[in-house]
Amino acid sequence: MYLKVLFFVLLNSLSVYSQAASSVESLNVQHAERLVILAPHPDDETLSAAGLAHRVLEKGGSVRSVVVTAGDAYVEAIQHDLGKKRLAPIDFLRYGKERLDESRHAANLLGKGSIKLDLLGFPDGSIYPMLISHWNNSNPDKSEFTGFSHIPYIEAEDRGHAQDGKFLREELVKILKEMKPTLIAFPDVMENDSDHAGLGMFALLAINDWFEQTHKLPSVEPRLLTYLIHWKNDYPSGANSQIPVDLSNKPLFLPDELSLRHHIQTCFNLNVLEKHLKRATLEKYQSQQRAMGNFLMAFVRRNECFTRLNEKDTQNIENIVRHWQQTRKKFDANPISRQYVLMDNLKLKNYE
Ligand SMILES: [Zn+2]
Repeated sequence: MYLKVLFFVLLNSLSVYSQAASSVESLNVQHAERLVILAPHPDDETLSAAGLAHRVLEKGGSVRSVVVTAGDAYVEAIQHDLGKKRLAPIDFLRYGKERLDESRHAANLLGKGSIKLDLLGFPDGSIYPMLISHWNNSNPDKSEFTGFSHIPYIEAEDRGHAQDGKFLREELVKILKEMKPTLIAFPDVMENDSDHAGLGMFALLAINDWFEQTHKLPSVEPRLLTYLIHWKNDYPSGANSQIPVDLSNKPLFLPDELSLRHHIQTCFNLNVLEKHLKRATLEKYQSQQRAMGNFLMAFVRRNECFTRLNEKDTQNIENIVRHWQQTRKKFDANPISRQYVLMDNLKLKNYE
């Protein structure tokens, strides 16, 4: 969750990100909706859309939650948990397993067993490198933490598969084809975290593939909802509080500085039970509660807000990614490294 990339610069090429006045609409859930939530790490699906998921189930719909990575490279948290600076691959693997288990428990609580959960088990920090540099199984991304270039977790359904971008894209398309969602929630490409922003791009690619392969739009055009977890340090308000603060009666709108382009901000209002369940579901993520409990709790609000995209916004993403890949090739002698960025950004001088 730490790697910061220059998406602000790169996204200048995205025409959808032109500045425009924004408005807020209320997000209503119809009978028997089908919701797909795409999460880069275990807990993002709950932070972004737990209330929405619960309402969809209450109204006779179905929910599929796709957790792409195991979140196994949260170096600071593992160091803190284990009380040591030098970490071995087994430490990262154990942490990843713990987080995947937490996802299972969280989904079971929120959906009383009716949420379909896909734990893909890719390595933490792999999404952006897979988007830019690792597109096929002969050149998979190798985790600099676990040391694996294939998915190692028994808990992951794709265990043993090479960690490459083509595979992730195809997995997402397969899920969309199976679910035929009426609602898709996924990270905004403007997120200030490489896994989040990278998954936002993969989501746009996969949604476009699905539209193309089903001969343009399916009979019911899905609502495309992007969420925001990581932004500037003071977002969301209360995240940096030293003591737990109950913000559940306060709204959390998308930040003013976030370019809302010509899109609409759409917010879902949680009832009392949904807020309670969201908090209880987040408590299942004990590893994250230990590391950043106040950050998690700052998302338990009376609403969940998204930017609503439309079908046009999924087009031309392929060309943008190709452009990024070409640019990246110039730096192939210096592979993308989460570890070095971590050390640089967080001044973890003692790590290694
Ligand atoms: Zn995350």
